[in-house]
Amino acid sequence: MTTISEAQLLKELRFQFTVTRAMLGTLKLDQILYIILSGITHGDGLNYNRAFLFLADEDGRELSASTAVGPSDKEEAHRIWEEMEKHKPDLPTLLDAYETACADPRTRNLSKRLAGFGMPLSASAPPLEGKGDVPVQALVAHCANTKKPYFSNTIQAVFQPPVTSGDKVLRFVKVACVPLMLNDLVIGVILVDNRYNERDILEDEMRGLLTMANLAAIAIDKARLHKRLEDMAALDGLTGVFNRRHYERRLEQEIARARRGGRSLSLLIFDIDHFKNCNDSHGHVCGDLVLKDLAAFLKDRVRTEDMVARYGGEEFVVLLTGGATKEETHLVAEKLRSYVASQSLGGRPAGEITVSAGVAVLEADKLDAVKLFSLADKALYKAKDEGRDRVVMAESS
Ligand code: GH3
Ligand code: MG
Ligand code: MG
Repeated sequence: MTTISEAQLLKELRFQFTVTRAMLGTLKLDQILYIILSGITHGDGLNYNRAFLFLADEDGRELSASTAVGPSDKEEAHRIWEEMEKHKPDLPTLLDAYETACADPRTRNLSKRLAGFGMPLSASAPPLEGKGDVPVQALVAHCANTKKPYFSNTIQAVFQPPVTSGDKVLRFVKVACVPLMLNDLVIGVILVDNRYNERDILEDEMRGLLTMANLAAIAIDKARLHKRLEDMAALDGLTGVFNRRHYERRLEQEIARARRGGRSLSLLIFDIDHFKNCNDSHGHVCGDLVLKDLAAFLKDRVRTEDMVARYGGEEFVVLLTGGATKEETHLVAEKLRSYVASQSLGGRPAGEITVSAGVAVLEADKLDAVKLFSLADKALYKAKDEGRDRVVMAESS
């Protein structure tokens, strides 16, 4: 067993404390990954030249390159070294600088070079020879299969990017890999190297890397769980579009934003015509499929900044946030209505399922959530009264 000096132990504890504290301050997965990898590469941390994280998808099937921290070539290594000399940010300052790092496109250069990386998590790994070139995938697979740390000062790992990318081969020297474990599952692999100063990696360093990997695994799991809970609270279980609760919260935010920007907001309420008949004649399973298809149609046909939500049973709202005029909004609503009428939904023949829409547009200075909804709702009643499968614009909007 190796003995650790008191000074070394203190340094390790201080480092772990700083990284843990920074990680506890956020639930954003990207920020957590930035903190871990920056800690691994900082001089007061584990002091590696570069760090890479390969993360499994949530099904645990595919590993892809997620984040990388460090220079992408010799020139950048030199530039970073000079900047560090000048500013010498200490570890807590660096870990706090996530927003600044995000704003600097250069920090993504290294990640970009691994963009084409993807491999099955279950990929078999031939035993690694001690010397020479190996695909970096073999190194990652070896670590994921053995579930143990691995390091080599003689192997050269290479990533051959897809020919179509035109990128150069990425080389890794003086490498170490550690698995990210959750219970007995591998959820990712951290790879580090000393490509630029070619410092030898020591057996003793695996302890620090493993601690980082364990912290990373817990933090990633927590961030994913949080994201899942957020999604569950905001999304409709059947159709996957936003639910009424989320719509109401977001509407308030959009109203405030539109007022600030002097833009109008447009609300479209769609209600399926005679949906009860559809359920009665073809069953609720078919009805559910119609709802899913309609939600997907609406979502696919509006801009990402607009919002589609299931307001209730067979009623969907579409909020246009780009400041569309009354005429433009009418055009959008009419396009959506006629598109629905021309499509097969839930396996029913095209033309069988139709929708009616009530539409309201309010200028920035008149915006009010209750008023916007009630105007569109009244217009919807009118559309139903006038025979369905039509769009009615609210009069006073
Ligand atoms: P109208 O043209 O006047 O809107 O007639 P309608 O039959 O669509 O309206 P009504 O309000 O009478 O019926 C709405 C139907 O929507 C009744 C209800 O069973 C059905 N519905 C609501 N939610 C769901 C759901 O989640 N799944 C299924 N399959 N049906 C639903
Ligand atoms: Mg209804
Ligand atoms: Mg209806």
